[in-house]
Amino acid sequence: MKKVLVIEDNADNMRLIRYSLEHAGYAVLEAGTGEEGVRLALEARPSFIITDINLPNIDGFEVTKRIRESSANGSIPIIAITSHAMAGDRERILACGCTGYFEKPIDPITIVDRIHRQLEAAGCPIEEEPKG
Ligand code: MN
Repeated sequence: MKKVLVIEDNADNMRLIRYSLEHAGYAVLEAGTGEEGVRLALEARPSFIITDINLPNIDGFEVTKRIRESSANGSIPIIAITSHAMAGDRERILACGCTGYFEKPIDPITIVDRIHRQLEAAGCPIEEEPKG
């Protein structure tokens, strides 16, 4: 089962993202802070990472930077979640090393498709697990 690390401090958003990803067959690792997210990214080796930008202490930009600077996870796909206020900040998000991003509010019906499209657009599609 593919592991996904979700870094999100808002419990409601975390619940929606977890539900959607688990429904699509992913195993979800949760981190409520950026520091914990960086630690889990190195320890658990997820297939990809979803990170909120607006986090306490270190934000999603710093999380991405730290993960990118680590040798173990230098090329792992990282998708940012932004609030509407950050919608014009695409350049900054991509410049800091994120693979892609999507905006809140989180729609549990479409979120997994949107994530897959971001990964494909960035040239790092998630392969289907062999059946049986
Ligand atoms: Mn947040």
